Amino acid sequence: MPDNKELSKTEKEKSVSGRTGKRAGKDADIVPVCQKNDELILDIEDLGTEGEGIGKIQGYTLFVKDALVGDKVRVKIMKTKKSYAYAKLLEIIEPSEWRTEPACPVARQCGGCQLQHCTYEKQLEWKRKKINDCLKRIGGFENIEAEPVIGMEEPYYYRNKAQFPVGYSKDGSIITGFYAGRTHNIIPFKHCLLQHPCNSRILGIITRFLDENNIPAYNEATHKGIVRHIITRTAQATGEVMVCLVINADKLPATDKLVQMLLESDITEDKGTKESKEKPFIKSICININKENTNVILGEKTEVIYGTPYITDYIGNIQYHISPVSFYQVNHSQTEKLYNKVMEFADLKGNEVVWDLYCGIGTISLFLAQKAAKVCGVEIVPQAVEDAKANALLNNLDNVEFFSGAAEEVVSLQYEKSNSRLKADVVTLDPPRKGCDEKLLQTVADMQPARIVYVSCDPATLARDLKYLCGKGYMVEKVQPVDMFCQSYHIECVVKMQKKYI
Ligand code: SAH
Repeated sequence: MPDNKELSKTEKEKSVSGRTGKRAGKDADIVPVCQKNDELILDIEDLGTEGEGIGKIQGYTLFVKDALVGDKVRVKIMKTKKSYAYAKLLEIIEPSEWRTEPACPVARQCGGCQLQHCTYEKQLEWKRKKINDCLKRIGGFENIEAEPVIGMEEPYYYRNKAQFPVGYSKDGSIITGFYAGRTHNIIPFKHCLLQHPCNSRILGIITRFLDENNIPAYNEATHKGIVRHIITRTAQATGEVMVCLVINADKLPATDKLVQMLLESDITEDKGTKESKEKPFIKSICININKENTNVILGEKTEVIYGTPYITDYIGNIQYHISPVSFYQVNHSQTEKLYNKVMEFADLKGNEVVWDLYCGIGTISLFLAQKAAKVCGVEIVPQAVEDAKANALLNNLDNVEFFSGAAEEVVSLQYEKSNSRLKADVVTLDPPRKGCDEKLLQTVADMQPARIVYVSCDPATLARDLKYLCGKGYMVEKVQPVDMFCQSYHIECVVKMQKKYI
């Protein structure tokens, strides 16, 4: 990860002279070695893959969380490695023009947002650069540039799924909030700027309910207590909200009171976002039982105590039922933009056979099935395949077929069974961060689709896989980033590849 490119002499001298620790060399030619607890002054020159600031002292790389390109900062060395170190930001001496005051008061402690201190415009520019760097460095693509990132008009309140741990404050009162970065310490907070605004009201009602009924929060260390997590899901297109309490018991006391309190309250907050038009209302209240001593949030059993076992959402014209366990994209309005790009890049005329690999609950499969002759989806999680089949029925789409299993196994087996005659007009790939298995990419190339649409959440593995496919007769036509996770370092990309005809 660290980049150890040598600095020019003048840059070297500049960084050394900027160093305030007692080990700062009188002679610029003596390479100073940072040590733990040293304090330095540093110019931040770049951001690392997780949005951390990068500065250099004589070619030695320092990673500084919460620092931005263009900042001059005073830092303290926390941990050293052979060619890089981690440092803590102590003071911003000269702020970068990228800097903005984070809208959330706990942005720095909380593990959720890494870039709230950066203007949204610069976040998008940096994300585009990150993709371009990967395309060049990993993919060897010298002449391909990602398009400008499709961002959000209002990059807040976009998440449709929230998981709040429940615990105790130092004074013994029940709290909910978020884990501080890389820990299980709860930062008590009810109003998260990424979650749907209705969450603040819901958390307020549930903590009051627990207090009034003396229901204890779960304690991870002792494995005692009852309420572990509060999960909420909201359906942007319909306004339906699901509330689910995860408990370390067979029953939650006073469930009738909980239902009454939730239904009697108005969960609407004024801070409705431009992207969510529907007023939220509670459609489903569930209890999930998780008595295991584990970090996994959900247990296997879910009971409905009010309403339906699912909420209904739409992406475009396609309807989805979402249960507490369903996988579903977290940013509804950006997902719609992403899927519209997938549709545009797939360029369907109506007679095509499409293979949608890594299909999850069939969201892309069903979206494309509206315009294709047939769509085959492949997904490794059996429950997701069941959801995909149910969603196909729900939408009366009978031109889809779903296969359960690893894409690399399922597709090559189908290819072998067809005596190498299995063809696809379009293949869509949407793998997890580690990207596609090489065996799968080989089989996809053997199927000779005219177009491949690759949806990726990791620019590094994307660049690697695009390079592989380019070696198998494909070329990259367009790289379109979509910002699905505003304020974080993550970026989603959709790429159109065409078969080369020689
Ligand atoms: N296309 C879907 C889901 C994408 S997330 C959507 O847009 O909602 C990636 C999916 O790949 C997950 O559902 C994960 O379970 C699945 N997956 C991971 N490894 C896989 C493999 N080897 N073969 C098939 N699916 C896999």
